[in-house]
Amino acid sequence: MEEIKEKVNYCLNCPVKPCSNKGCPLNNNIPEFIKAIKEDNIKKAYEILSETTVLESVCGRICPHMKQCEGSCVRGIKGKPVSIGELEAYVGDYAIKNNYEISKVNTENKDKKIAIVGGGPAGLTASAFLLKKGFSVTLFEKYNYLGGLLVHGIPEFRLPKDIVNKTIQKILDLGLEVKYNCELGNNISLKDLTNNYDAIFLAYGANITTKMGVEGEELKGVYGGNQLLEYKNHPDYTNKKVAVIGGGNVAMDCARTIKKLGAEEVKIIYRRAEEQMPAETKEIQDAKNEGIKFLFQNNIVKIIGKNKVEKLELIKTELVQKEGENRKVPVNIENSNYLIDIDYVIMALGSMPESFTIDLGLTLNKYGYIYIDENYQTSNKKIFAGGDIAGCKSTVAWAARSGRNAATKISEFLVG
Ligand code: SF4
Repeated sequence: MEEIKEKVNYCLNCPVKPCSNKGCPLNNNIPEFIKAIKEDNIKKAYEILSETTVLESVCGRICPHMKQCEGSCVRGIKGKPVSIGELEAYVGDYAIKNNYEISKVNTENKDKKIAIVGGGPAGLTASAFLLKKGFSVTLFEKYNYLGGLLVHGIPEFRLPKDIVNKTIQKILDLGLEVKYNCELGNNISLKDLTNNYDAIFLAYGANITTKMGVEGEELKGVYGGNQLLEYKNHPDYTNKKVAVIGGGNVAMDCARTIKKLGAEEVKIIYRRAEEQMPAETKEIQDAKNEGIKFLFQNNIVKIIGKNKVEKLELIKTELVQKEGENRKVPVNIENSNYLIDIDYVIMALGSMPESFTIDLGLTLNKYGYIYIDENYQTSNKKIFAGGDIAGCKSTVAWAARSGRNAATKISEFLVG
């Protein structure tokens, strides 16, 4: 507690709240919840956070804080920012330990039935905020567990499953009905849902790894990063060299997981510079500390092998400021190609919606995600969407924000 006290006392309780207003995707009331901890009122701190989030223990641990709240903290201008993530997790964990419930604000909307498709951060958050308002909510989940990428996309060393399960239990305790092993496009249809529910929220994610389109990508030994984390069907990495392509947290999680599974050497290959990496600085540093090598400003030309991956042809890049671009773009340096020996290649470049999305009869945007307007409504006004499937920014906090905001819009749609 002494350590926590020191951390909360370091906060200036700035009236303009840049940490909340500019930094936090969920606009959590950071100075106020920190002030409540200062006053030794953790219950109040939890209630303040619960106004905007139900994932305190999760976001407190895995958000890219330096790119969000802590990156906007006034204390960070001249020194270290306030440890906002750690304090948020402290409050969330304290609430779990002390069985604090998420409070309901209305119980008179029970006659309105809402179906949520997908039990990841967006679906869970939307469920919680609709249940708080008293609606009847049924969540359809393709697996026999909830959490989505919180469970299968983020390794245990970054986010303990026990914390995820206890966080989900709080949402279940609000009265959430869950239908497990139900997959849209497989054993449930959008038509059935629209016939039986007053509104639908689609939040089933986008988990198919984007292809690079380079020669050799079809060879044995090339894996999609998302699928590898989701299905855990890893090969034996003993004495093997592995290349992970990409610069986000999925790339870091893949590289660190593979190294822990015993790979001899893991290289992350990224075509831009280190400071342009979307992954959180801490994740990059942890990966380095664990012995993972980084090849910055390197691009893949092709994957070489007879039946399986044997080598990678890389080319060096330089960063060039081009007209109309807001940041320097990588350009291949002619004749800088070279080969490295490699046994496995993991593509961790981003993700796409599953193919059945095309058959839902909803308008898609130019990237293949479900089109939504400013009210999170799809081309069918009864159907809303959020999180990765609607192309929202792909961090847990941004997915949660879309779930929470969609819940508000669904409530307005149903009861005004
Ligand atoms: Fe506290 Fe930093 Fe937010 Fe100011 S910006 S209120 S110091 S956390």
